[in-house]
Amino acid sequence: MLKRYYIATYGCQMNVYDSEVLAGHLESMGYHAASSEDEADVLIINTCAVRKKAEEKVFSRLGTIRELKKSRPQMIVALWGCMAQRETVVQRIKRRFKFVDLVSGPNALERFPALLEKAATAKETVFDLDHAGGKESLPIKRAEGFKAWIPISHGCNNYCSYCVVPYVRGPEISRLPENIINEVDELANCGFKEITLLGQNVNSYGKDLKQKIDFADLLLHLDHRLINRSDNPPRIRFMTSHPKDLSEKSVRVIAEGRNICEHIHLPIQSGSDELLKKMNRGYTRDYYLGLVDMIREAIPGSSITTDLIVGFPGENEEDFALTIDLMAKVRFDAAFIFAYSPRQGTRAAGMPGQVAAKIKKKRIVQLNELQNRIGLEKNQGLVGSIQEVLVEGQSKTNKNMFTGRTRTNKIVHFPSAADCLGEFIDIRIEEARGWNLIGAIDRRN
Ligand code: SAH
Ligand code: SF4
Repeated sequence: MLKRYYIATYGCQMNVYDSEVLAGHLESMGYHAASSEDEADVLIINTCAVRKKAEEKVFSRLGTIRELKKSRPQMIVALWGCMAQRETVVQRIKRRFKFVDLVSGPNALERFPALLEKAATAKETVFDLDHAGGKESLPIKRAEGFKAWIPISHGCNNYCSYCVVPYVRGPEISRLPENIINEVDELANCGFKEITLLGQNVNSYGKDLKQKIDFADLLLHLDHRLINRSDNPPRIRFMTSHPKDLSEKSVRVIAEGRNICEHIHLPIQSGSDELLKKMNRGYTRDYYLGLVDMIREAIPGSSITTDLIVGFPGENEEDFALTIDLMAKVRFDAAFIFAYSPRQGTRAAGMPGQVAAKIKKKRIVQLNELQNRIGLEKNQGLVGSIQEVLVEGQSKTNKNMFTGRTRTNKIVHFPSAADCLGEFIDIRIEEARGWNLIGAIDRRN
């Protein structure tokens, strides 16, 4: 009988990648993808623990899965990823969600087939919360045919005081460059059009390796290699850059690289030095502003996006005014604004001066309003320009409408009578909106 799996993925791009590996394992074990969780023999919820909201979503989903499991007791339910590494979550699963068959942290990818087998016959929930675990030569079933994600490092050593990532994903480990290069070669051979290098802090890549290599060296090598092997090489993207480690050398490589996209996601988190210090971010507001100037001078037309947290413990009106001021000064292309969410076990959760939810909400609205205005103004500046777009989506309601991204990571909608998914197309920008652009085909490449 056909065995089917369904994976629901929450959180960041690293989770998307991990889900692709889980799917790879399942396919090599003879499973096929199910179109919904109702048909699944194996159901995996790949979770995020960065904010409470993400965790609550998963718990409420587990409530519905409980009913599903009653009607299909043979179905194996797995809670995968970052939430599994949280003591509070483990306790809650043990108390209230005993029907979950497997609970496993993100570093057990290599052990998944054995864990699944164990979970299929065990009477009680199987737990695997070990941070150790191999990450090479894993099977993978990529969700998309032309965009791929490759981790260049796993885990994080930065211990920003609000963040659970170092606890749930473990210490930072850089992958060997030869393994990354082999994977990139393979993707290029398979015709992939865009490769995103992933790490919690790509700019600290290589610091833990014996050989002398840094992120700039890796980027430069990959760019040369891809250009030399084809006239139409895939684009290279990377995420996330930590301001404290982004080097001038990396910026120069991005500027000079032919196929390295001119987009830097550079989370600032706050515009107040006092808060940056309490957050343990390792840079000041002036340092950050200097970085922005350096990037814009070296890479004209580049885009800079950011993450911001409002309502960090002790954030007063003055701190918040500094964040507003910084946003107005930098003029980000996009900003993702989050309400601070206390995470048990992190330093900030115990700090005095926790901010009321109402104030956080008000500050989020204020920052979003400012960013929407700036985003629109910046996008208006692109009207009339020609942008190279990689086409990545087709509208569900109108088969003649497509969506792609510019090298600077801006979303562009445009009409096309012919199917152009996965192609690079030059688009003339005709209209700007806050978070996207509207255009028309200028030329197919
Ligand atoms: N390693 C990346 C991403 C970390 S998580 C980085 O350093 O940027 C993505 C974003 O979630 C962070 O940039 C931060 O803005 C936000 N975040 C992390 N922990 C949070 C918390 N406890 N409450 C609210 N937002 C948080
Ligand atoms: Fe979390 Fe900071 Fe590491 Fe990013 S750099 S994952 S915010 S601890």
